[in-house]
Amino acid sequence: MMNVLEFFRNLPKKHCSNCGNVIKEKADCYGNICDECDHPAR
Ligand SMILES: [Zn+2]
Repeated sequence: MMNVLEFFRNLPKKHCSNCGNVIKEKADCYGNICDECDHPAR
């Protein structure tokens, strides 16, 4: 049961270059910016 957790632990997490939050795996077309910082209204 720990295999999945270890698998995700080994994955390199992206951190937002603006706020430092961990970027959720969704689309990597934003570069190193999280959703909040990528939001045009902000
Ligand atoms: Zn951010």
